[in-house]
Amino acid sequence: MSRREIVEAGHPVLRERAREVSAEELSSPEIQGLIDDMIETMRAANGAGLAANQVAETVRVAVVEVRPDNPRYPYKPPVPLTVIVNPAIEPVDDDVERINEGCLSVPNLRGEVPRHMNVRVRYLDRDGVEHEEVRRGLTAGTFQHELDHLDGVLFLDRLRGIKRDLITRRIRKLQRAGRW
Ligand SMILES: [Zn+2]
Repeated sequence: MSRREIVEAGHPVLRERAREVSAEELSSPEIQGLIDDMIETMRAANGAGLAANQVAETVRVAVVEVRPDNPRYPYKPPVPLTVIVNPAIEPVDDDVERINEGCLSVPNLRGEVPRHMNVRVRYLDRDGVEHEEVRRGLTAGTFQHELDHLDGVLFLDRLRGIKRDLITRRIRKLQRAGRW
């Protein structure tokens, strides 16, 4: 296992739609090694999740884990390590709330993002076993955030109104200072 570099906003790979992984590919040393590296990288950065695009790989693979002592997200309920391959997601109902989000690829910025509170997620785990589960609340938000990455979407894209303007100004300021 080795830690990968996390690419930051501005890198074109974060805007690509990642491709599906075949069953044969999933069992390959390349993808299994990528999954190990993503887990290590997420844990080292105290992330709640990491999508393959964030380590510059365009395959539909993401990992999610919230440990009880996560310093970046002390308010998130714990989530056991979950490896997500070729996921699909759909809202179960119309319940939407704003969630305070950050992203390892968007340093120094947070925003309130509207997310579905109840979603059905279908995916394969790293052994190719199919899962279908309903995720709720902040955990539902985490899944939506990671699946967005696989479609080339960042949480910044989902900000609305004044907050979006404020964040855009702050990004320009950080860019001018060479910190973004
Ligand atoms: Zn992210």
